[in-house]
Amino acid sequence: MSLAPNVYDAEPIPESARAEIDKLLKSGDLFRYTAPENAPVTLLEQDFAAHMGSRYALAVSSCSAALFLSLKALGLRPGARVLIPAFTFAAVPSAVVHAECQPVLCEVGENYRIDMADFAARLDDDIDAVLVSHMRGHTSDMAAIMALCDARGIPVVEDAAHSLGTVWDGRKIGTIGRVGCFSFQSYKLLNAGEGGIMITDDADLVARAVIMSGAYEHNWAKHMNEADPELEAAFAHWQNKLPLYNLRMGNLSAVIIRPQLDEIARRVRDGRTNHDYVADRLNRSAFLHVPDKLAKEERAPDSIQFNLIGMTEDETRAFAAAAAERGIKVQVFGLSTDNARAFWNWQFIPGDMPDLPRTRAMLMRACDVRLPARLTRAELDYIAGALVMAAQDVMGEARAYGT
Ligand SMILES: *Cc1c(COP(=O)(O)O)cnc(C)c1O
Repeated sequence: MSLAPNVYDAEPIPESARAEIDKLLKSGDLFRYTAPENAPVTLLEQDFAAHMGSRYALAVSSCSAALFLSLKALGLRPGARVLIPAFTFAAVPSAVVHAECQPVLCEVGENYRIDMADFAARLDDDIDAVLVSHMRGHTSDMAAIMALCDARGIPVVEDAAHSLGTVWDGRKIGTIGRVGCFSFQSYKLLNAGEGGIMITDDADLVARAVIMSGAYEHNWAKHMNEADPELEAAFAHWQNKLPLYNLRMGNLSAVIIRPQLDEIARRVRDGRTNHDYVADRLNRSAFLHVPDKLAKEERAPDSIQFNLIGMTEDETRAFAAAAAERGIKVQVFGLSTDNARAFWNWQFIPGDMPDLPRTRAMLMRACDVRLPARLTRAELDYIAGALVMAAQDVMGEARAYGT
């Protein structure tokens, strides 16, 4: 194959979405609260909650909105300190700032996961809530995180934006903390262009989030598909007491997402197979290393991250250029200008930026390449070959096969 594969295009939306889209176009019924019952957004919430095995789901305009609402629904006071990993997308500290809380960053190791010693140390620095971001689907040690937080009564929100389908110790990611949040932005497992959803088993928390998402007056009644006295009491309690942020999802997004739920298992299976196949090839190079996942984690990747070994900053830039020449775009998180995943660019966080040498060192040599589930074996071979040869271009044949 001479041409590099396109790793940015999405998969087509399942054909079965068309009939529902057509119905919406004919009726013009795009607002989730117009129909008395069974609006597409409501059905999506029911299906998603059932898929995850959680009691409640609330669909909203983005995962950022879900994270923001989670923090608001926890009732954190303004200025509350929220511990987040220093390796994540800028949307995460942004949601914390939006909720009038203070992001506190903790170190992330060279395996892209929370450095548990640093996490434990910072947890005792007046932390009010923890927002675990499973960045690029990499799961940190959730058993250790939950044990530390439960012992202190600190609530945990899971940012599972990019982790749908990941399993930790037999439990679905997003169901382990008090709330789990997912994204339907186009680069995530389910694609609606934009959108998000939060899941929880906590009736009071979801009642608060539903109202703040924009269920004005008694629209919250449309969130009870069956009698739920606990939830109804919570809605009644919070009626008129919370601001409305209007972060609702529209029906058109919901009908695009719903038929994709049936695709989750295949996308997860193929994404994992593709990732592990390319990882195995990269790990045979002396200059590339894909860190192991944690033992209790079953991954659902749609991209691959790997570290460069023994390359200077100049050699790292030369490697990215050599890969680009072969048609493969490599993002080195810490090297591209204004990268939204490099914590030093989050200058909107109030206060001094902490020095996080471990995370910084990781970001300066960690590479990111998209690897969607739809790629064929030939396309994976092209990508892996291009990366291995780019490293050899820069570091030299002799050294590649030397030690
Ligand atoms: C995509 C992403 C987000 C933001 O999701 P949106 O739906 O675009 O707001 C947050 N965290 C992580 C880890 C992400 O990958």
